[in-house]
Amino acid sequence: MKVLITPKSFKNYKGKTYPLLESAGWQIIENNTGRTLSENEVIELAGEGVYGIIVGIDILSERVLKNCRDLRAISKYGVGLDNIDLAAAARLNIKIMNAVGSNNISVAELTLALMFEAARRVSVLGANVKAHRWERLMGMELTGKTVGLIGGGQIGKEVAKRARGLGMYVSIFDPYFKDSAFLEEHQIHLCGSLHDLLRVSDVVSLHLPLTTDTKYILNSETLSLMKPTGVLLNTSRGELVDEAALYVALKEKVIAFAAQDVFSMEPPAPDEKLLSLDNFLLTPHAGAYTAEAIERMALHSTHNLLRMLNT
Ligand code: NAD
Repeated sequence: MKVLITPKSFKNYKGKTYPLLESAGWQIIENNTGRTLSENEVIELAGEGVYGIIVGIDILSERVLKNCRDLRAISKYGVGLDNIDLAAAARLNIKIMNAVGSNNISVAELTLALMFEAARRVSVLGANVKAHRWERLMGMELTGKTVGLIGGGQIGKEVAKRARGLGMYVSIFDPYFKDSAFLEEHQIHLCGSLHDLLRVSDVVSLHLPLTTDTKYILNSETLSLMKPTGVLLNTSRGELVDEAALYVALKEKVIAFAAQDVFSMEPPAPDEKLLSLDNFLLTPHAGAYTAEAIERMALHSTHNLLRMLNT
């Protein structure tokens, strides 16, 4: 009876989580590569007797799932399930749970950090001084500006509350949003049209899942609706943005700045041309990488796996 644990940072909390699994009779297989596993590596490690996986962003395609013959449960160490073929898992009777609410505050806080970076370019100012250049860059005040959130779930709501605390106006586009009490309490506008939201927002921030419907929700057409001074933030998933169109929009100043924590290929190719632009910033998928969120994700995903495996 074995379980495979793939996320690199899970080990930080093995003192609290491994005893829970071991006392329930599970032998633990670790990912010792120091990186995300390839499909073949998952298949190799999740062989006979592996009934459960705690997975990070490693790809669990139909081919992987079919080859992990004893697999009964997948526990996501985090929230986004786009790396798992959900339909194939359902066909193969493999249960799936995610660690809802474990990293929303950390991702929201990184979103705010990216928003401040776009407004004040703190990292550039600091790097200039270290390079002996006492140079200022003119910034933008956030107070009184409008932030448009695409997706008003766990993370979007935390960003919304913080943006209101900064004296910003907040508008949410989310066709499935139902929490009118939240809107009222925080004086937030629910926008019925994505196009309207893009037109009025000074900062647009993505907080929706990647699905076949949402892929490239920001493309050359939708980017062109944003203000020329507009800032795009993406802490959700790379493929929500058509990166070729984003490159053109940033290069031709259709929008002013984009800051992302995610990319279509992580890490991006060394010659990725977006990285050559001064008005583009990419952080290494670090949104959930705080001590607090990692501990919550490790415990939550462990309990979810044990629940699904009924042990
Ligand atoms: P959530 O499920 O709580 O919220 C997602 C929201 O998006 C929901 O309210 C849903 O109604 C809305 N939505 C769905 N389709 C939409 C559409 N077409 N247009 C507008 N809104 C739509 O998820 P969450 O916890 O807020 O996470 C959001 C995303 O953040 C995740 O899917 C994941 O990809 C990403 N994420 C990134 C990191 C990171 O480290 N950068 C960490 C955690 C999550």
